[in-house]
Amino acid sequence: MQANWLEALVRLLDEAQRVFVFTGAGISTRSNIPDFRGPQGIYKDRSPVYFQEFVASEASRREYWAFKLEGYGAFRDAQPNAAHHALVTLEKLRKLNLLATQNVDGLHQAAGTSHERLVELHGSNRSVECLECGRQESPERCMKEFEASGEPPKCIACGGWMKPAVVMFGQGLDMGRLRKAQACSRAADLVLALGSSLVVTPASDLPLAGVQAGAKYVIINQGATPQDRLATLRIEGDVVDYLAAAVARL
Ligand SMILES: [Zn+2]
Repeated sequence: MQANWLEALVRLLDEAQRVFVFTGAGISTRSNIPDFRGPQGIYKDRSPVYFQEFVASEASRREYWAFKLEGYGAFRDAQPNAAHHALVTLEKLRKLNLLATQNVDGLHQAAGTSHERLVELHGSNRSVECLECGRQESPERCMKEFEASGEPPKCIACGGWMKPAVVMFGQGLDMGRLRKAQACSRAADLVLALGSSLVVTPASDLPLAGVQAGAKYVIINQGATPQDRLATLRIEGDVVDYLAAAVARL
């Protein structure tokens, strides 16, 4: 870690009162969550199932559930790391306005970030939902049934198709979640973009809403982002190291 970057981060966090945090895959790498889009990403070798295909075709439902079952063990067993915990501390210090994440691993929730301070923009792999009645449950039953029968699982209440409660390719983001995140970003005095390459829109526009409204801006990521020139502080490195060290000093 570079001492001057850490000092600057501590100072900005210390001064801030309403922090908007935006997180991407980089915050969960050290929790052994596979990166779906990176160079070793799963989508390198298989094409994604689109929502419209899932609704229309039994073969696509089977393909999607097979893909989800493959990753299920890793998601179920993953534990939050020091960066997830540091963001919980930030909330306890009453500095966290909102945490919006692109991740579907549920690790912010697992670490203890409270429901009203958390927006999971792309949903969560920690629950499944019925396409008909919206009923949600934990994935255990559906995964077991699919593993045993190879048949896409159905809702126990209405018989509709169940699917992991994540935003699939071809599905739009939930507008309610997006608006809440936009409003909190605009109200922030400090925006942190953590472990995101900031290329997947419209999610990656969220930090900009706060920056354009006058917030200071910290980007911590491994690799360049298109928003680097807007940053008050740009830290090239692992978010877990810097964030945990900085929050421990508040
Ligand atoms: Zn249902």
